[in-house]
Amino acid sequence: MGRQTGTIVQQALDILLADPAILPLLKGNSREQIFQSIGAILSTPNKTHKAYLRITLDSGNVVRIPAYRIQHNDAIGPYKGGIRFHESVNEDEVSNLAALMTLKNALHDVPFGGGKGGVGINPRKYSERELYLICKKYVQYFTDILGPDKDIPAPDMGTGEREMDWMTAEYKSIHPGRPYLGSFTGKSIVSGGSLGRREATGKGVYFSFKYMLDHYIRSNLSTLETYNNPYLPIAKSYLNRPLTMAIQGFGNVGAVIAQEIFNDQSAQHSVVAVSDRNVTLFNENGLPIDKLLQYSADHSGELPTTAEACAEYHIDAHIQDREAVLYQEVDVLFLAALEEQIHERNVDQVKAKWIVEGANAPITGEADDVLAAKNVIVIPDILANAGGVIVSYFEWLQGKDTQFYSEEHVYELLYAKMQKTLDQVFPLFFSQNHQLRQSCYNHAVMKLSLVLYRQGKLY
Ligand code: GLU
Repeated sequence: MGRQTGTIVQQALDILLADPAILPLLKGNSREQIFQSIGAILSTPNKTHKAYLRITLDSGNVVRIPAYRIQHNDAIGPYKGGIRFHESVNEDEVSNLAALMTLKNALHDVPFGGGKGGVGINPRKYSERELYLICKKYVQYFTDILGPDKDIPAPDMGTGEREMDWMTAEYKSIHPGRPYLGSFTGKSIVSGGSLGRREATGKGVYFSFKYMLDHYIRSNLSTLETYNNPYLPIAKSYLNRPLTMAIQGFGNVGAVIAQEIFNDQSAQHSVVAVSDRNVTLFNENGLPIDKLLQYSADHSGELPTTAEACAEYHIDAHIQDREAVLYQEVDVLFLAALEEQIHERNVDQVKAKWIVEGANAPITGEADDVLAAKNVIVIPDILANAGGVIVSYFEWLQGKDTQFYSEEHVYELLYAKMQKTLDQVFPLFFSQNHQLRQSCYNHAVMKLSLVLYRQGKLY
């Protein structure tokens, strides 16, 4: 577990320890012992699997590629979480991401535990055939620990439907005759995926923001005002006016957030900056999202990087360096790229008063504290970006039943599930004066603690 996650989990445990209504004593054990046991369980993964995948490259060279599957906790259900292909993948990172999955699933009452996988490659540097081999080998090496009721991977950074289809096919051929549709989620529709899975993370991210501001805060304003919460004045100043927004990342998550803002026409919010790994595009009067989406669809997911490319698609935008998106004078900043994007060294340049985490762990612990001191509202990853795993759960259910839902029904279920969690954590946040991240962790850790207690895991 990373330092930031570990610290917040520990703070959650300290808060629960001080609340006598939570967890009765076990025979002979003090409350301190019980909470120390929970801390020991949550701060370490159950199992860490590492392999070096042997791949023959197109050149004929044989290479060994580091690959991980880390199973953090399965108290609530089978391990669940994506597999990322990225050159910075390492054991600590995958382990922290696996712990975040345990917390995310517990927070949203998704009946899964937490796991994560990773392969240490830059997928852009490999041919399609090489990536296919890597996917097959990943399943071959980890086949004994994966499966619909054991550990169910999904896409993450650098992977998508194509990789999940390849992996599912390999799982199916290694385990003939066994049910296989639930072995991976995030599959293409033809391969048994769910309608709406591709858009689910981005849709959920925008929903978490919209619901908080336009529904929860608006409808509960008089009660919230009695709490004297330091974050409330900012939230109130955002009501009933069009907002300016910036989105870091224009991939599967960022582009869908942009689309959602574009579709939400009655709100009249404008996206003034977007970025990807090459560039930030800025226009203080609002960028033409429809044209950017078209450009990106025509250019393998990339944004235009030159004035000529912008002109060709009638995109009126200033071209800035890729980090510039973080420092714009905007009301809301969506982080939908990599982790650790806002850190100690750049946090002072961030001007947005409301940040929504579409990516996992995009703000370091140090930066988080600085933002909290400035009363910046941060909707944290485990709350905001759970749409992906929630619809993965629906995909898993549909695969088990071989009964498939309409896209409309998937979104209805997704929003209902997220809304239930949001309605549970927002009152904690506004009444208790913690950061929203802490309120979410408190809630998730409490659920995990009760389950571990009931399962007799604390003796
Ligand atoms: N990789 C996504 C996440 O971090 C989705 C995981 C899943 O669908 O299992 O939440």
